[in-house]
Amino acid sequence: MLKVLVTGGAGYIGSHVVKLLGERGYQVGIIDNLSSGSLKQVLYGKLWVLDLKEREKVLSVLKEFKPEVLLHFAGSIVVEESVKDPLKYYENNVGNTIELLCAMKEAKINNFIFSSSAAVYGIPEIIPVPETAELRPINPYGQTKAMIEKILEDLAQAGEINYISLRYFNVAGADREGKIGPNYRQVTHLILRALKAAKGELPFLEIYGTDYPTSDGTCIRDYIYVMDLAEAHLLAMEYLLDGGKSMALNCGYGRGFSVREVIEEVKRVTKRDFKVVEGRRRPGDPPILIADNTKIKEILNWRPTYDSLEYMIKTAWEWEIKN
Ligand code: UDP
Repeated sequence: MLKVLVTGGAGYIGSHVVKLLGERGYQVGIIDNLSSGSLKQVLYGKLWVLDLKEREKVLSVLKEFKPEVLLHFAGSIVVEESVKDPLKYYENNVGNTIELLCAMKEAKINNFIFSSSAAVYGIPEIIPVPETAELRPINPYGQTKAMIEKILEDLAQAGEINYISLRYFNVAGADREGKIGPNYRQVTHLILRALKAAKGELPFLEIYGTDYPTSDGTCIRDYIYVMDLAEAHLLAMEYLLDGGKSMALNCGYGRGFSVREVIEEVKRVTKRDFKVVEGRRRPGDPPILIADNTKIKEILNWRPTYDSLEYMIKTAWEWEIKN
């Protein structure tokens, strides 16, 4: 069976993809430095606790495990932190990805699936945003993703790599079996913070900005269920191994919910009321992000099966109260 190496496999999205790979019988190897991931999220495969900076060690893993394809999730992901500490992001995301690509080149592994982000678009002119939109990130986090995409494009041009960059929109929810879920140490995402407020772990939920040019003044996002996103990775992988062309693909459902709508849904699903405070805008937030998902449906034949905000919140809530 196909051998797949996953970086960041102990993190939120990586661990859900590892679970799906394991269930489908792939042979899984994982590299994670456990700086933000956790061991108990890793349900399948062999784990090497390593930092991608350690190129020689990564190279030995590649030579030992001999994967046919790499799925690269490892990286720093908090937009606001990237505004305050950009160098951390350029080092962790861009620098370490270059280290990984160098090791791959030496080990002669050339299939690569990259965790990109809708943050590469910045404030898009067209909504839903197609992949052809100009990349104009408005924060260092988005910049790092756009830079890596550019590096991959150049490597593909040079015939050194085949890649798919998956541009994630707002990933949410937990696997329904309840064994794994969002495992962030720093909880910054809206749904998770709202669940913490519902649980009483936060005294209130703050809305970051109510003066955006949207119907209710709050930001609109395209929330996608983590297992639908995981499925997209498996399809992207198989597509590349079948000789598919390198490209970037949006991963979203093509519709959006405002911050206020999400909060209402969290209150409804959890059957708990909590205090909501209207605050100021958070730096680096675009008003509306919704995916045009025509391309991923066409190229990978990907089909959303859990397009339900209720389901995402429900699975995340079950995970939250269990942990
Ligand atoms: N948000 C908010 N309060 C919070 C967390 C997030 O109002 O406690 C808003 C945030 O400003 C953005 C939206 O919710 O408009 C989604 O933010 P999140 O951090 O979940 O994802 P992002 O879109 O930044 O990747």
